[in-house]
Amino acid sequence: MAGALRLPRIRWLSEQLLQRTGTRGPAPDRGHALSILYRIAMRGRVAILQQFNDTTELNLTQDWVGNFPKHLGETQVYDGIIQMLRTWSWRMTIHVNVALLQDLIALIEGEVSENLRKICLYLVADGTDIHADAEQRPEVSTEDREFIRGVRKRAQWRRYATKAKRTLKGWFGYKLVLLVDMATTLPVIWALVPARAHEPRVVLRLLKELRTIWPECPAEFLVADGLYDDGKFLRACEFGHSIHPVVPVGQNVSTGYRHHATRGVPKCCTPKGSDKPQYMKRDQRHGFKTWRDRLAAEVAPGAEFGVDSFIRWVCPDGKCKPVITRPSQNPRIYTFLPHEGPHKNVALRHVLMVRRNSVESVFWSLKNLGLAGDKHQRVKWADDIEMEWIISLGLQGLTARRLAWENGAYLDARDEGIAMGFLRHEDAPPPRVDDLSIRRMFRDREKRGWTAEAPASWMREVELGYEERIYEEGWDDDAPLAGKAA
Ligand SMILES: [Zn+2]
Repeated sequence: MAGALRLPRIRWLSEQLLQRTGTRGPAPDRGHALSILYRIAMRGRVAILQQFNDTTELNLTQDWVGNFPKHLGETQVYDGIIQMLRTWSWRMTIHVNVALLQDLIALIEGEVSENLRKICLYLVADGTDIHADAEQRPEVSTEDREFIRGVRKRAQWRRYATKAKRTLKGWFGYKLVLLVDMATTLPVIWALVPARAHEPRVVLRLLKELRTIWPECPAEFLVADGLYDDGKFLRACEFGHSIHPVVPVGQNVSTGYRHHATRGVPKCCTPKGSDKPQYMKRDQRHGFKTWRDRLAAEVAPGAEFGVDSFIRWVCPDGKCKPVITRPSQNPRIYTFLPHEGPHKNVALRHVLMVRRNSVESVFWSLKNLGLAGDKHQRVKWADDIEMEWIISLGLQGLTARRLAWENGAYLDARDEGIAMGFLRHEDAPPPRVDDLSIRRMFRDREKRGWTAEAPASWMREVELGYEERIYEEGWDDDAPLAGKAA
C-alpha cells in the first residue's frame, strides 16, 4: 500500500481529497481519515472503527504507510471520510484508473510477453450484485421500498431465477457493471447502478464514456455472456463503437435468416468422401472499422460507422459461388468472429469465451476485500455515494498495485521503509520520527519523481461538465434498448 500511494495519479487523488472546501473556516487535518479510507478500500475490512483502533495505537509503521497523519478522534474520522466523499466525485477514480492503465501501457511498450502487449485489446463486460446495507427482502409497496432503503436513493430489489434449482432469489441494492481488461484482469471502467438497471444499456454507456475519456484505448473486442445476446446491443457495439462483440448466440435465431441453422456461417457443396455439406471459407472482410478508423474520420462515440461492412465466403473446393454476410442484417449471427466452422477466427472466439471468466477474478478480489457481496461482506456505514466511492477505490487500487509492481514504486517504498527503519527487525533500534527526518523523507521521495500528476481526461471533464450530463440521461432504466436491431 505504501508503494501504491506514492504513484503520481494516486498522489493527485489524495491531494484532491485533502483539499479544504467551503467557507466554514479551516478544514481539519484529514490525513488520518484518508489513510483509514485507503486501508478500507485496499486492504479490506470495511469497519471504520476497526481501522481506527488499528491506526491510533502507537504504530510507527502504520504511520509511515499513511504518510504520518495527525491523529483525529473517532467522530472526526467518520465526519472526515463522509465529508471528503461527499465533496468530491467518485468519477475521479475512473479517470485515475484509466491514467494508471495508460502508464502501465507506456511502461511495457516493447514488452516481450505477448500477453501484456495485448493490454486493453480484449475487454470483458459483466455485472455482479452488490447488497445495500438494508433489509434483504422484496418491497411490498412504493412506501415500503422507501422505508427499506432509507437514504439510499438508488438501491432496489431485484429478483432472479437461479439456473440450477429454478428457484427465485433476489437482493436489495445495486449492481456493479464492469469492463475488465482480459490480458491483465484489471478493471477498466465501471458503474454502480440500481439493481434493476438493464446491463447491456449500462455497458453501452460505459463504452461511450471510455471512448470520451480515452479515445485511443486499444479495445477491439468486447466479450460477454448470453445476457448480452441482443441484436440492438450487438449492433451498437459493432457500428456505434467499432468494437466487435463476442457473445454466444441463443437458440432463438429466426429461421427467416439465411444460414440460421449454422449460426450465420454458410455451407456449400458436399466434398468427396463425406455425406454432409461443408462450411465455406471466410475469405475476406470489407468495411469493418476500428477505433483508429473512427478517430481518423472524427466519428463521435456512439455514432454509427461502417454499417455496410460484410464478410465474403468462398467454397473450399472453388466450385460454388461466393456468399456475402452482413452484420447489419443480423448482428447476432453474421458476426465478425464466426460462430462455427474450421476457421481460426472460430478458435479465437472459443478462447475468448473461455477466458471471459477473467472478470470473476475482479469480483472475487472485491469480495475478498469485503467491499462487495452478501451479508458479511458489505459496507455497513455507506449510502449510495459512499458505496460508489469505496467500490471505486477498491477497483482503482487493483490497478494501482499492479502498476506499483511494474514501475518500481513497491521497491522504492521498501527501500525507503528500510532506510527509515520502519521495516526493521525486532531487535533493531527504533526509527527516528522527528519532524526534520520526516520532512527530509518526503523531499527525497519527490526528488525520486513521486510527485502528484493529474489525469488529463479529468481536467477535460471538469471543463466540459460531462459528469452532469451522464446523470441527466440516467442509468436506472430497466427498459430494453430502443432502436432497430438489424
Ligand atoms: Zn462448395
